[in-house]
Amino acid sequence: MKQFLSILLAMWVSPTTESQDFKRLRENMVRSQIESRGITHNLTLNTMRKVERHLFVPAAHRKRAYEDTPLPIGYGQTISQPFIVAEMTQLLAPKKGYRVLEIGAGSGYQAAVLGEIVQEVYTIEIVKNLGEQTKKLMRELGYNNVHVIIGDGYQGYKKKAPYDAIIVTAAAEEIPDPLIEQLKEGGKMIIPIGAAADVQNLMLLEKKEGKLLKTALTPVRFVPFTRGND
Ligand code: SAH
Repeated sequence: MKQFLSILLAMWVSPTTESQDFKRLRENMVRSQIESRGITHNLTLNTMRKVERHLFVPAAHRKRAYEDTPLPIGYGQTISQPFIVAEMTQLLAPKKGYRVLEIGAGSGYQAAVLGEIVQEVYTIEIVKNLGEQTKKLMRELGYNNVHVIIGDGYQGYKKKAPYDAIIVTAAAEEIPDPLIEQLKEGGKMIIPIGAAADVQNLMLLEKKEGKLLKTALTPVRFVPFTRGND
């Protein structure tokens, strides 16, 4: 009886639920992988502390959700490494009123991180089944401002253009013209450029007085930007 009571008491004092374990892992992830590598944008850091990355990862990999690595999400695609998501988010310098376009919805994690910060996120996914799955997840998690669209992101999403910021999370050989057109004056685009089988360059593009200023940032490795028939 005494033992039973002390177990009960221990459960009451320190309820170690799974979600608390994940919270601890998430905090570690932010400290050891993101802050330690120089990410200082507070909105980005707080959002990475908040969004439950394990919910965007297939059950088989859930325990690894907070590791310093990309992970498979099925359909031959991956969820990006946490640091890359943080870096791309910080580079976009998202603000509350922004309308953001993402190409490559994948698991929806990057879109959810942006959705916590900005007003509207439109994210395009070319793999139909993955897109449908992510659309459902966004609904379940209550991200009503994250809109998943199935199609070829090369064309952007003209219906809601222009965008304050555009983020491409698949490796493109060149910058798709429609995306340049759909970027607002003063807006920023982040895109990995380079051959798919290779290491790409993460590029920051800024539209200033109709011109595109290009800055090459860090080497990255993304899954390829594919093309559809539409
Ligand atoms: N942002 C994602 C990372 C996904 S990986 C996340 O947070 O999980 C890149 C995704 O881009 C893949 O799902 C791939 O299917 C998709 N993709 C590749 N080419 C595309 C295109 N032309 N249009 C839209 N999505 C594309």
